[in-house]
Amino acid sequence: MTAILSNLQATREAVAKATIEAHRVVTEVHLLAVSKTFPAEAVREAYQGGQLAFGENYLQEALDKKALLNDLPLEWHFIGPIQSNKTRPIAENFAWVHGVDRLKVAQRLSEQRPADLPPLNICLQVNVSGEESKSGVALNEAAQLAQEISQLPRLKLRGLMSIPAPASGETEQRVAFAKMRVLLQELNQQGLSLDTLSMGMSHDFPAAIKEGATIVRIGTAIFGTRDYGGQK
Ligand SMILES: *Cc1c(COP(=O)(O)O)cnc(C)c1O
Repeated sequence: MTAILSNLQATREAVAKATIEAHRVVTEVHLLAVSKTFPAEAVREAYQGGQLAFGENYLQEALDKKALLNDLPLEWHFIGPIQSNKTRPIAENFAWVHGVDRLKVAQRLSEQRPADLPPLNICLQVNVSGEESKSGVALNEAAQLAQEISQLPRLKLRGLMSIPAPASGETEQRVAFAKMRVLLQELNQQGLSLDTLSMGMSHDFPAAIKEGATIVRIGTAIFGTRDYGGQK
């Protein structure tokens, strides 16, 4: 078995273990394989191991890879920062966008989503740790923005996404994830029907699953350490 296939299997097992420890149903937690910086062949290999959903951060890299893999029934998620002048190719090429944090970007994605595709699935990115350098809407502004995005016709607001500040140990990591869980509950009490918490990466997904993650975005644990080669 190749490294990618055995890593994928080990990751699935670790995700299932955390889900069971959280007394949750295994089918509630979806694995998004984050393939940024890895070549199309790596994605193809993971597909052969049964993985269908892939996350990419860099638009041009993602489009190149997608073109090389268009014989496969893959589901592409855009998880990187979004420049407002790059929304059209995102609206045209992805099934999900996880990093939406401004109304203007959401409006453009809605206007530019092709009519022959289903509505674009959206996660609102929340700056849950309040870090100045991070993207994401502030916790106390998330409800307003979620209401506005939920009105846009060609989008389907599915839930919330976050990348908390690094914390060591599961107890510490759970603090930020718990805030996301509570925010999702509040939004649903305010009339939205959100079913997605996109949170947890290679180093903290067990903590995220214990606080209700439904999509964990995992790169390194599946594909190995990234080499940006000066790209970013
Ligand atoms: C790169 C990235 C991931 C995957 O991170 P790993 O630590 O490699 O698992 C998840 N989410 C986002 C938004 C990323 O940019």
